[in-house]
Amino acid sequence: MTEVRVRIAPSPSGNLHVGTARTALFNYLFAKKNNGKFILRIEDTDADRTSQEYVDNIFDSLKALGLNWDEGPDVGGEYGPYTQSERFDIYPKYIQELLDKGFAYECFCTPEELEAEKEEATANKKAYVYSRKCENLTEEEKAKLRAEGRKPAIRFNVAKAQKAFHDSSILEFEDLVKGKLHVDTNLIGDFVIMKSNGAPTYNYAVVIDDALMKISHVIRGEDHISNTYKQILIFEALGFEVPRFGHLGMILAPDRSKLSKRHGATAVSDFVKQGYLTDALINFVALLGWAPSDGEEIKPVEKIAEDFRIGEISSSNSIFEYDKLKWMNSHYIKMV
Ligand code: GLU
Repeated sequence: MTEVRVRIAPSPSGNLHVGTARTALFNYLFAKKNNGKFILRIEDTDADRTSQEYVDNIFDSLKALGLNWDEGPDVGGEYGPYTQSERFDIYPKYIQELLDKGFAYECFCTPEELEAEKEEATANKKAYVYSRKCENLTEEEKAKLRAEGRKPAIRFNVAKAQKAFHDSSILEFEDLVKGKLHVDTNLIGDFVIMKSNGAPTYNYAVVIDDALMKISHVIRGEDHISNTYKQILIFEALGFEVPRFGHLGMILAPDRSKLSKRHGATAVSDFVKQGYLTDALINFVALLGWAPSDGEEIKPVEKIAEDFRIGEISSSNSIFEYDKLKWMNSHYIKMV
């Protein structure tokens, strides 16, 4: 069996969120259970939205929770350090491969042209899908556009990749948590994998990194399911082994809306500032989607790791009950 290698890949656009802590924990538990490796990768391709302060907060919060990574920033090792902005020289090579294989093409459309396409779709009450008007540009046409000073972005050719590896337009995969999932790829527009300034986009960089880091299982929030289809196609187009995917339900506030600051703290460091013990916090977070087989909810992470089975994670959303966290915290306070 191939080695289990999982990762948590936070974008440093804020302090470590409890939802990311839960994703990190489930990856960590899955690695422990399978003698695998738990990897930390900082996804900072979007330089405008990231800061070193948040990177430090992510490191500190994961460490405080005991979620120590086996490879990644400040540990080094064979594959580290993993910070996407330090890997920019790796990404162009595979873009070229996709272009050479015909699974990608240059797109010279301006933001204004794309905006007009979107407006037209909205006016016709249609979901927007890129028109693919640059798919078949001739070399002369491209040279002319270049001469006008236009710099192309690179788009992935969804239909071509789908056709090369599947019998119909339906793309299906077996999710570790949710079972079989599928999409009609006709609904996925040819998406940008490299911006005109040369920066890789999330869906592209994540595939290159997951492939090169030999990630075997991708466990993350269900808000990424629509990305997973795009990513599977890129894995296939580059001839990489496709990892297994598992998508976790979302964490909702007690009023069933998206958990946000107006409900209370959401960052691990804020809970710590408010006096919550990290042992209580991590135990509580484990119960957001997972339940112990003996019904005994108060358990240290080592015990949870023994009992943890990914297939038993609930595929539905979990409610973040602040009162329950308070109760659990008082229990842990009495124990120290
Ligand atoms: N950087 C992504 C995020 O913070 C993680 C994506 C992933 O796990 O693939 O949402």
